Amino acid sequence: MGPPGAGKGTQGELLASRFGIPRYSTGDILRATRRDGSELGREAQGYMDSGELVPDDVILGLMTRVLLSTDAAGGYLLDGFPRTVEQAEGLQDLLEGAEQQLDAVVNLTVGDEEILRRLSSRRMCEECGAIMRPAAGTESCEDCGGHLLTRPDDRPETVRRRLEVYREQTEPVLGWYRESSTVVLDIIGTGDIEQIQERILDGLAS
Ligand code: AMP
Repeated sequence: MGPPGAGKGTQGELLASRFGIPRYSTGDILRATRRDGSELGREAQGYMDSGELVPDDVILGLMTRVLLSTDAAGGYLLDGFPRTVEQAEGLQDLLEGAEQQLDAVVNLTVGDEEILRRLSSRRMCEECGAIMRPAAGTESCEDCGGHLLTRPDDRPETVRRRLEVYREQTEPVLGWYRESSTVVLDIIGTGDIEQIQERILDGLAS
């Protein structure tokens, strides 16, 4: 968990590859459905581009399908889900039904100024959806060579709304987990990518 631009995707990818487990990012899944032109993508588009959350029933329906079809034997990592207390309750029901349990919540903390700075230089590949911060003047994706553009929801006015939404709807999820005695690791999300990864690994190990 963490506000937009905290590094959830970057750190999540590193963690998932280190442990050899799948990572399910609701943001990535929604953007892929938009590129496919599917109905879910069209439904999510307006919410995403204005910085609002996609409705809980849509997200819970999506994640129920994903988690029921996944091979969870070796565990998995959730990125950007749950984002509301209702989603956390829905996830809890799903986990109980599948006799699985949540090991820990990793919460990346980053200040608003740093977030605005990071997101203004972030780009997305139109072709493959990869998210990156390219060197100035670079216009092609480092993975597939596709054209890079600014994510519509990374515009400064939308980022401000996403931060408000985070404070109002997502931060309470952390309190909900703490009250239910789930391990919540608060990790400072600034510094080198490797340094942050080490902090997460140390937190998980302890
Ligand atoms: P992200 O890539 O995680 O920053 O997500 C981008 C956007 O997708 C968010 O601003 C929301 O509009 C939508 N989204 C992603 N995950 C969720 C979720 N768990 N619940 C509701 N909306 C979501």
